[in-house]
Amino acid sequence: MAVDSNLSSPLGPPACEKDAKALRFIEEMTRNADVVQQNLLAEILRRNAETEYLRRFNLGGATDRETFKSKLPIITYEDLQPEIQRIADGDRSPILSSHPISEFLTSSGTSAGERKLMPTIKEELDRRQLLYSLLMPVMNLYVPGLDKGKGMYFLFVKSETKTPGGLPARPVLTSYYKSEHFRSRPYDPYNVYTSPNEAILCPDSFQSMYTQMLCGLLDRLSVLRVGAVFASGLLRAIRFLQLNWSRFAHDIESGCLDSEITDSSIRECMSGILKPDPELAEFIRQECESDNWEQIITRIWPNTKYLDVIVTGAMAQYIPTLEYYSGGLPMACTMYASSECYFGLNLNPMSKPSEVSYTIMPNMAYFEFIPLGGTKAVELVDVKIGKEYELVVTTYAGLCRYRVGDILRVTGFHNSAPQFHFVRRKNVLLSIDSDKTDESELQKAVENASKLLHEECGSRVAEYTSYADTSTIPGHYVLYWELLVRDAARHPSHETLTRCCLEMEESLNSVYRQCRVADNSVGPLEIRVVKNGTFEELMDYAISRGASINQYKVPRCVNFTPIVELLDSRVVSAHFSPALPHWTPERRRR
Ligand code: AMP
Repeated sequence: MAVDSNLSSPLGPPACEKDAKALRFIEEMTRNADVVQQNLLAEILRRNAETEYLRRFNLGGATDRETFKSKLPIITYEDLQPEIQRIADGDRSPILSSHPISEFLTSSGTSAGERKLMPTIKEELDRRQLLYSLLMPVMNLYVPGLDKGKGMYFLFVKSETKTPGGLPARPVLTSYYKSEHFRSRPYDPYNVYTSPNEAILCPDSFQSMYTQMLCGLLDRLSVLRVGAVFASGLLRAIRFLQLNWSRFAHDIESGCLDSEITDSSIRECMSGILKPDPELAEFIRQECESDNWEQIITRIWPNTKYLDVIVTGAMAQYIPTLEYYSGGLPMACTMYASSECYFGLNLNPMSKPSEVSYTIMPNMAYFEFIPLGGTKAVELVDVKIGKEYELVVTTYAGLCRYRVGDILRVTGFHNSAPQFHFVRRKNVLLSIDSDKTDESELQKAVENASKLLHEECGSRVAEYTSYADTSTIPGHYVLYWELLVRDAARHPSHETLTRCCLEMEESLNSVYRQCRVADNSVGPLEIRVVKNGTFEELMDYAISRGASINQYKVPRCVNFTPIVELLDSRVVSAHFSPALPHWTPERRRR
């Protein structure tokens, strides 16, 4: 595998000259993490010295870390909202960054129910590209021969809008897939995908998924790795195959693309790829018509060496299902990134999901870490093994000392760069796909539904808790409700309770509603009404396990199996949202 022993890096013998260069770069950055960070902050401060934001804090030309940290506050998105709004409205003066803001990246984190808008500048694309370019050189150290086949990745663009001032607002991956960096990428034998660009770039999610899966089936023996960004996305693709395999078999048998695929660039591109292959069609029918879908991935794509999906953080809930479909293939979590900035990569991508650590690359942004329970932020190289921190970034695009909201635990170091286990995102109660619902959003949704319940039949929600049910694909939110029924003659009807489900969905944030409406990645919300007295039993159970009676609070989300089982055993009726909530790509103004 190694080309030349002289190229060998401390990480291992690289697969080719290009990889050797990438691995040397990782070594250089991680060995000099502190100096890289110091220089990077100085560069950002020099470059943005004349911005309105930095001038406000009278740095007086200083570019050192101590002055910066003593004069600038650590902030959240809410603190920056007025500046962001002005930029979105068209103010082109240097407010946050001396380089013009080229677009806004719409985060899956929300503020006032809408996606947060993260400013970015053109050159950030190069920085993201740089991080991407390090992933395969690392992977090649662990899995040889990836240049002998293809990756079947399910990648999608999502809808985008323009801000009132005319800047594009779109998710970071949509921005990347539409960029020249991605579309005109030079041929690289280690990065050949089964999905044509035409399919990835098709805005219609059905046509995009259909074509990507069809191409993956046609090329099944070349597939060496199977992936999506997040685990939920890969499971959605498998579900799609479950629902559509006979259509795929039909297309493959006849050599004609399904008439529902109307996108002209897809049709043109597929006319060169799709040829009648009755044998393959028969194989797909045989594999898919059985009820047993265990190991379906390795049955259809037998040369798959690993799954490339993020299964850390909220995605860990999907590990057992992915193991079932893949027969226990390794799951590689290769990188850690966000709309604010890309953070780092996993230098040991074949490690078990529970042991995944990401090495933050010190050239991506200036990083600080607030110890959990503390206030004073420490430098990248000063974090301590075993401790948990909240991540704070200062980016080239003008975010200064910005709290990302992620909690990380230090697991070790690669040279002087720390490695982090992703612990959780702050304030997330429920998540199925990219949706993130916090406690106050859920509370508001229940209040709105409870109001409706009261208007229709005089009842109220006495107690509630929730559960992210991922036993089906797509997963869905379950709300356990104990009711306060004042008048037995007006017991809430099934219709009223289904309307309450929809009312709750209407109240949830726009990422949730987009997942429901545009991505079909979250199923209808369900209310399970439980017997009176169930929440008292829940309290008794918690107290029997050591909770203090005085301090007991109803958990607003449960995931401990015995508690879910207790709740489920007390369910008297279940009701699902009867329709899709309202969602459009347009943002609501504050
Ligand atoms: P977004 O701003 O929508 O791109 O979401 C970024 C967030 O997704 C991060 O701040 C993390 O909370 C989460 N995330 C990204 N990469 C990972 C990962 N590898 N493991 C766990 N969570 C991740």
